Amino acid sequence: MSDSSLRLVWVYPDLLSTYGDRGNVLVVERRARQRGLDVTRIDVRSDQAVPTSGDIYLIGGGEDRPQRLAAERLRMDSGLPRAVENGAIVFSVCAGYQILGHEFVNDLGQREAGLGLLDVHSTRGEGARNVGDILADVDPRLGLPPLTGFENHQGITHLGPGVAPLASVQVGGGNGTGDGTEGAWRDTVFGTYLHGPVMARNPAMADLLIKLALDVNALPPVDSSWYDALRSERIAAARQQQSA
Ligand code: GLN
Repeated sequence: MSDSSLRLVWVYPDLLSTYGDRGNVLVVERRARQRGLDVTRIDVRSDQAVPTSGDIYLIGGGEDRPQRLAAERLRMDSGLPRAVENGAIVFSVCAGYQILGHEFVNDLGQREAGLGLLDVHSTRGEGARNVGDILADVDPRLGLPPLTGFENHQGITHLGPGVAPLASVQVGGGNGTGDGTEGAWRDTVFGTYLHGPVMARNPAMADLLIKLALDVNALPPVDSSWYDALRSERIAAARQQQSA
């Protein structure tokens, strides 16, 4: 954190915010404020420049056409890559995750370049879309409880040697490659297919981003009973989906 204020940047709410992904910024902001932090929230529309001085950047999912438009604009804007070079934390969901990779297949069926901030590339799945609840065990190095989320994507994401899987699926498709991986991460850059929104279903993930931004190992506890109730409900739904 550069000064006493946590700078939380929400990239392209006008293009990338499906399935409640807006909730991610609300949850991270709230949980930071509950710890007494002063939060400056910066919503960056797609006709605005991405600031380089943010602490945490959130990017959501999107339908195929808005995803292409977002990638076109982000490729012309050096803000996000420069922020990552400065050590910023980036958390991306679905279309946002695909855009952070080297390339994905756009709404015109063409290969579209991403930002190359994660060593992944996405292709278009030939089978049915991956739709439904996910339950996944997180990379143990991150020290988080299982992730619960909702996925809805046609894209399939292949991981290169420069990233590790964020999680391994108990239920659901995840990256869709059939190897049981879900999402990817390296250092402070994260990608996932989980909507829900993922931060409301997994407040420990929101707290992890805040801890990374503050460079601390622990945060004061806050009441998470509402989140816990949602987690129990959705984890039960995922298990039911698996046995159906
Ligand atoms: N359009 C992308 C896909 O279907 C991402 C969808 C999403 O963000 N939910 O793979």
